[in-house]
Amino acid sequence: MSDSSAEAKSSKNFLEEIIDKDLAEGRHTSILTRFPPEPNGYLHIGHAKSINVNFGLAKKYGGETNLRFDDTNPITESTEYVQSIKRDVEWLGYEWKQELYASDYFEKLYEFALKLIRDGLAYVDDSTSEQIAALKGTPTTPGTNSPYRDRSPEENEELFKRMRDGEFPDGSRTLRAKIDMAAPNMLMRDPVIYRIKNAHHHRTDDKWCIYPTYDFAHGQSDAIENITHSICTLEFMPHRPLYEWFIEKLGLFPSRQYEFARLNLSYTVMSKRKLLQLVNEGHVESWDDPRMPTISGLRRRGYTPAAIREFCNRIGVAKRDNLIDVSLLEFCAREDLNRIAERRMVVLDPVKLIITNFPEDKTEMLPSENNPEDEQSGEREVPFTRELLIEREDFMEDAPRKFFRLSPGRNVRLKSAFIITCDDFKKDEKGEVTEIYATYHPDSRSGSDTSGIKAKGTLHWVSASHAVPVEVRSYDRLFNVEDPAGEEGEITDYINPDSLVTIPQAWAEPAILDDLKEKSGSAKHFQFMRKGYYYEDISSTAEKPVFNQTVGLRDTWAKQKGK
Ligand code: ATP
Ligand code: MG
Repeated sequence: MSDSSAEAKSSKNFLEEIIDKDLAEGRHTSILTRFPPEPNGYLHIGHAKSINVNFGLAKKYGGETNLRFDDTNPITESTEYVQSIKRDVEWLGYEWKQELYASDYFEKLYEFALKLIRDGLAYVDDSTSEQIAALKGTPTTPGTNSPYRDRSPEENEELFKRMRDGEFPDGSRTLRAKIDMAAPNMLMRDPVIYRIKNAHHHRTDDKWCIYPTYDFAHGQSDAIENITHSICTLEFMPHRPLYEWFIEKLGLFPSRQYEFARLNLSYTVMSKRKLLQLVNEGHVESWDDPRMPTISGLRRRGYTPAAIREFCNRIGVAKRDNLIDVSLLEFCAREDLNRIAERRMVVLDPVKLIITNFPEDKTEMLPSENNPEDEQSGEREVPFTRELLIEREDFMEDAPRKFFRLSPGRNVRLKSAFIITCDDFKKDEKGEVTEIYATYHPDSRSGSDTSGIKAKGTLHWVSASHAVPVEVRSYDRLFNVEDPAGEEGEITDYINPDSLVTIPQAWAEPAILDDLKEKSGSAKHFQFMRKGYYYEDISSTAEKPVFNQTVGLRDTWAKQKGK
């Protein structure tokens, strides 16, 4: 981690220093940033960082942020993606000033291109993309001028208008900026700024058959909106001279580009193209599969906006690429969920426990705190009966001394209930324990324990006759290696085959039924005691409740890996 949370809070990051200076020198009097997603996929946690930086900086300086869809590439973009992006930004808790689209500027951008042509700064090239590439040179050898480079402005203007009018097939001509074929920065070697693409656009339909490139659209869109600080990721650094060249030659508002390191997260991939591959090839269910690093996947899994924002604040902004450990994200989720999640008892792998001295027809309702971290959360009642279910792993026939759970002759406390002493158990012919027998101590009731009996461990439990069946899904890392995109071969070679474990029938205390979203209107966050944090899945119904594990209670991964 480059910036610890404390550092990030006490000292300014490099972007804040730049803004301070710009304000002090009167370069700007207010701040306007933008978040510019291309609507070609769902947002991921990396985008959350960019959102946090753009909206966070503007807010800090009393400025605002536009949401601008960078929709200049009709082939891969769609309205579905636009909708999902808006939903995700809102869910993260940010409000944009204006919702804008680069495609709204197509006419203006076209005018900008005409201006360059008239000023002798752009030309129509009849070369194929292969020919253009062949003349580009290499980083160490200069390129060669195109044979079409010296066309007159009049001829260029006429050809460019005919390109717009649809007279030429895809790929037959391009418009290029006339800069310098020997520039050390390859992007300055007469970059293509318009392409012919007879494609349907999600907003402009079939109005256009020529489309501006990213470089020709982005800076000019910033300038049209009077964006003061155009913040992007490091890979755009070599594009900056081009960004500035267009703004200067066109005499536009002096937006400026600044770059920070993109977020890379361990055990996952962070590119929409690769995430789309996982969806298309069926490695995950959908973009919002709870194993995906997408905002929608994290939401479905039970991450909170506050946890994601805290994560973004903790990682801070750096100028050098690094790989952030996903356990930091999980840590932030645990911290927030511990504060807000109501506690429930759910037994995932049950074995029957019979309280032999408790009457068969009796139900005792025991009050239990919903959340000890939150006084407002109140209590619920949990039914206690003669036949209970506990976790199979909480019983051991021959237990070592430090096993503070159930074993013949030992005591444990049942959470919010009584201390019990294990007397006996029964096994089937396969040697599997089928029933455990215990006596309870009536004077040991939680909150009014006068028994004087000691119990080292506390177990969660449910009443067998009251328990409701729920499906529980737990998730592990989607990939087996820290940086799947950095490995040889396909990312799909490194998929963790055990990333999803489904327990079709776990047993929950009955209070959970009242909390289901069908009844209460929205899904709630829970701590299943001793198991982890859980959140109702979007597929869940009152008939068949389904819960996703958001995170376990402890960082079991580091232990497993022997770190
Ligand atoms: P991807 O490679 O996932 O497709 P992208 O950069 O092409 O990402 P855009 O929709 O163009 O995606 O990105 C919108 C904004 O989010 C850009 O400013 C981009 O720099 C930023 N961004 C994208 N990925 C990350 C990341 N991993 N960390 C921080 N910012 C990111
Ligand atoms: Mg992109």
